[in-house]
Amino acid sequence: MGYLDNASTTKPHNEVLVAMCDEQTFGNPSSVHKFGQNSSMVIKNAREILSKKINCQPEEIIFTSGGTESINTAIFGAVTKLKKRGNHIISSQIEHTATLNTLKELENRGFEVEYLKPTKDGKIDPKSFANAVREDTILASFMMINNEIGSENDIAKLCKIFKEKTKFGLFHTDAVQALCKTKIDVKNLGVDFLSVSGHKIHGPKGVGALYIKKGTNIPPTIFGGNQQYGIRSGTENTHGINGFSKAIEINNIHDDLSHIESLNQYLKVSLERHFSDDIFYYNGKSDTPYIVNFSIKGIKSEVALRVLEQHEIYVSSGSACTKGKLSYVLLAMEIDRKIADGSIRISFSFNNTKEDIDMLIRGLTVCVEMFK
Ligand code: PLP
Repeated sequence: MGYLDNASTTKPHNEVLVAMCDEQTFGNPSSVHKFGQNSSMVIKNAREILSKKINCQPEEIIFTSGGTESINTAIFGAVTKLKKRGNHIISSQIEHTATLNTLKELENRGFEVEYLKPTKDGKIDPKSFANAVREDTILASFMMINNEIGSENDIAKLCKIFKEKTKFGLFHTDAVQALCKTKIDVKNLGVDFLSVSGHKIHGPKGVGALYIKKGTNIPPTIFGGNQQYGIRSGTENTHGINGFSKAIEINNIHDDLSHIESLNQYLKVSLERHFSDDIFYYNGKSDTPYIVNFSIKGIKSEVALRVLEQHEIYVSSGSACTKGKLSYVLLAMEIDRKIADGSIRISFSFNNTKEDIDMLIRGLTVCVEMFK
């Protein structure tokens, strides 16, 4: 079996599953007795692990139900705080739907949202961004790594431009595809918010986190028992949080990118060898080695995915969240519709091997033969 769809989700690591069943996690962290205190310690420990990973203070982290909730919390929090100072928001056409649909809702509520067009490489051009920032811009939100094509934005540069041009605007980055795959240092990035998720790094589903820079003071969007500094009420998902922090620790062991880089190289060499001139890549050299998105002339991804599955190879066409539709990311990059219709996304994890790629190539060869 070759699972090459790790940008959609990853298989929870065995140690993560063990951590989630840990008896220390069952108490209510708000209880004063020892079981409550044990759970409270689990959360404290997880905050420390994540804060070390992204270089912030533990108090700057809240745990959420995943990337989507983190993104919603940051965006709604920022605009609720700043709505009296401005009405303008900047983002891009190729954000994940967690961002795009949140912004759409804000448009319904009267905010003006400007969606920047990406470059041909699927990135935000700093100059276009600088031109778009206005006096009344209250929020900018750009992803670090695109989930479909693996393009990387220079978030530090974009954030610097923003902070130079606005006195009060807040900057959010969706780092769901970046955590444990590229170095994240929120101090260097300069961002006010950063969203991450557990299930992309062999952690559990339904748990994520939001970094909120000290002093940002956004109002809560979820109300209740005032857990997590009052920003995110609700009894914490202690099992998930313990699993998430264990996943970060496991990823720390695999921090070295060389294995993923060699898989990336091997895939590209194998594709060239077998399909040479018929290959079209969407992402360039400087992008994450974890994601490779390509089309092979004459092959439709919908069919390819089914044939590959018969060979026990699991990949995606574009994002798992937009199945069935032509990718809005590729269309925004002005990729020819016929080519975009054949998009196949391979996404690696540290547990993939060259044998997985050999299986993929065998499956793709069958597809090509079928379409001859
Ligand atoms: N942002 C990006 C870039 C993603 O890839 C995903 C998940 O596919 C999300 C946000 C949403 O995260 P979650 O599934 O944890 O809600």
